[in-house]
Amino acid sequence: MQDVHEIYAVRYAHHDRKAHENYILGDPHDTSEPLAYFVWVIKGADGTFVLDTGFDHAMAEKRGRRITRPVAEGLRAIDVNPDTVTDVVISHLHYDHCGNHTLFPRARYHLQDREMMYATGRYMCHAHQRIPFEADDVVAMVRRVFDERVLFHTGTERLAPGLTVHHVGGHSMGLQCLRVATRRGHVVLAADATHLYSHIEQGRVFPVCYSVAETLEGYATIKRLADSRDHIVPGHDPDVLKRYPAAAPGLEDWVVRLD
Ligand SMILES: [Zn+2]
Ligand SMILES: [Zn+2]
Repeated sequence: MQDVHEIYAVRYAHHDRKAHENYILGDPHDTSEPLAYFVWVIKGADGTFVLDTGFDHAMAEKRGRRITRPVAEGLRAIDVNPDTVTDVVISHLHYDHCGNHTLFPRARYHLQDREMMYATGRYMCHAHQRIPFEADDVVAMVRRVFDERVLFHTGTERLAPGLTVHHVGGHSMGLQCLRVATRRGHVVLAADATHLYSHIEQGRVFPVCYSVAETLEGYATIKRLADSRDHIVPGHDPDVLKRYPAAAPGLEDWVVRLD
């Protein structure tokens, strides 16, 4: 079937956090609630798409995160050669989603208009709003615009049969999610539209935010796009590695199959 895709979640980094750090208004429990960092691969009849590009060792050091396996290694483990990838979808321009600038030399980058506007406009004059952004990441994307390697999207657009991007906003002004037709139905790769399962399931909000109200509305958008709650894949939940099977023997806790 032409519009049925395989989806892989490739974990590349880890960060220990306390639960209260993951929510506006905090959390009453003094428990650990770490974040996992992923990129995602979608394979279908129209080729291979990569959602987000992660960050490298230098950025991990700067931000106090730990790389578990570099992004390139994870991709090669499922036979994806970054040199030949032609389409990269960027959910948003936060440092953990758009680094590794030279990893995909042939790819064009899919980005929402509003994300570029946000990352290069007046709101970046505020230190608080700049926290999750890196100037070098934004400059790299501007250079790709001048190299005609960026495809801008507005709202909902189709990348291939059974593969659509959808503007969500909230966490970042131009955040987009990816809806993918698979053999088990429509899966939504939410990226940071919900960091953890708890955010969307309990209507709570991660502290890094452009608009709280839009984030909450985004949960409704994601639920509408996914065939069920089990078809929603959060962007940073380590539990994804437990809920889904390893893509192949030896890839446990590293690359899992979501379709
Ligand atoms: Zn983010
Ligand atoms: Zn993120």
